[in-house]
Amino acid sequence: MTTAAPTTASTHTDPDTGLRVSIVGGGASGVLTAVNLLAGAAPGLRVTIHETLPVIGAGIAYGTTDSRHLLNVRARHMSAFPDTPSDLIDWYRATGRKIDPQGFLPRREYADYLRDRLADVADDRLRVVTARVEDVVPTGDGYEVHGEGVPPTEADAVVLAYGNSAPSPLTVDGDELPDASWHVSNPWDLTWIDRLPEDAVVLLVGTGLTAIDTAITVLEGGPGRRVVMASRHGLLPEAHVDQQSTAWVSRVPEGPLTADQLAAFFDEQVAAAGRQDVDWRAVVDGLRAPTQSIWLRLDLDERRRFLARYARHWEVRRHRMAPEIAARLVGYRRDGRLRLTTGGITWLSARNGSCRVLLGDDPQEVQVDAVVNCTGPQTDITRSDNPLLQNLRERSLIAPDPLRLGLSCRTTGEVLDETGEAVSRMYAVGPPRKGTLYESTAIPEIRAQAAAVARALTARQSAPSV
Ligand SMILES: Cc1cc2nc3c(=O)[nH]c(=O)nc-3n(C[C@H](O)[C@H](O)[C@H](O)COP(=O)(O)OP(=O)(O)OC[C@H]3O[C@@H](n4cnc5c(N)ncnc54)[C@H](O)[C@@H]3O)c2cc1C
Repeated sequence: MTTAAPTTASTHTDPDTGLRVSIVGGGASGVLTAVNLLAGAAPGLRVTIHETLPVIGAGIAYGTTDSRHLLNVRARHMSAFPDTPSDLIDWYRATGRKIDPQGFLPRREYADYLRDRLADVADDRLRVVTARVEDVVPTGDGYEVHGEGVPPTEADAVVLAYGNSAPSPLTVDGDELPDASWHVSNPWDLTWIDRLPEDAVVLLVGTGLTAIDTAITVLEGGPGRRVVMASRHGLLPEAHVDQQSTAWVSRVPEGPLTADQLAAFFDEQVAAAGRQDVDWRAVVDGLRAPTQSIWLRLDLDERRRFLARYARHWEVRRHRMAPEIAARLVGYRRDGRLRLTTGGITWLSARNGSCRVLLGDDPQEVQVDAVVNCTGPQTDITRSDNPLLQNLRERSLIAPDPLRLGLSCRTTGEVLDETGEAVSRMYAVGPPRKGTLYESTAIPEIRAQAAAVARALTARQSAPSV
């Protein structure tokens, strides 16, 4: 089933004393939280998903309109439920299609899966409100959730699942790039690509997975098109290999760690694995489970050092692309249609719907038809243009984590206010938790967070009051 969101909402003023949960954000994190809540039997439970977009389950990652954009995680690891690893595979087969559990599905099909799993548990306890939430106002014993143009919703608990934000603006010499037809500030809206000429040259600023998606859509939309990708490091994500049969478990040292020790440990493990003909990817994958505990054992300065010195090298190994995408990129680079360069834009001159740029380490001037911001989600909530985050900050209900990777919160997701106190019954799920738990952006971690938050909320509800 596809759950389209209704366009109007009414207030949730049922005198029923059951738990009323408002989930802000109807992407994967919000939908998985709702699924876990509704699958339980909490008495009098009511769940409202508030989502700006007219569809739920999609968000940024699974809302792509291009079926060539693939999951970057194998199908067998993308189940919505940690304790039923085969669930996505079972769902896919139940729809009458064949699936390779080791393969990489089109991302937009994953949104269908999430919506179907929500439909399995949805009944009149669930409401979807299509409106951007602008504020959440404490009322003493709960909250009022204020959406744009809809009546407020009363809630006993709020889950912040607002996900990934648009990238920080691109700058040249400290000045933001202007609004212009050639400037694409939101890389996840692909409509601009349809307007490109057949022989367009496109500059992608950023060389991560979003830049790769964009390159595939641009290049495969016209045989005469070319793409230049530029980033500080010029590092592309590594590729998954076709089949990985060997696992590698690293015995991570106990106690506090430094970023340099961690990097040395990783290199040792890769070398040890190599001596036994085990690929480095098995070492990276084996470190996934202990990543949260490792992150918590780095002090703040060491986390900073990791981010400044090692994070990019870790990310390109950790978040890999599907082998078939990697093979196509190799072909485009060989044919001269895709070029990779290091450094950002150092000079830009725009005229008549296109512009000329100079790039960091590249002395050549390049004439381009579009400049696309693929620098990755902006994580600093103090710079967010999401009115909800601005208003919650003004109320001192939320604060940035010290590394500006997301919200200040506990490892359990309980949101901490400006003074470091836990805000009553307010949780974060998914990317906003990244500062506290570094691995918080992919489904294997999000599904566990969503299940745990649902358990915490309903356990509190069932506990006798004192
Ligand atoms: C391009 C891309 C590809 C990815 N591919 C994978 C993959 O293959 N596998 C994997 O495991 N992970 C992948 N990820 C990681 C991704 O972060 C998670 O898998 C997951 O999609 C995050 O879901 P989310 O709901 O937290 O965030 P989002 O997808 O960002 O969804 C958040 C939702 O909240 C809504 N929202 C925000 N603010 C408000 C507001 N104030 N009021 C109402 N609604 C609001 C937004 O409209 C949005 O729909 C990818 C990420 C990206 C960006």
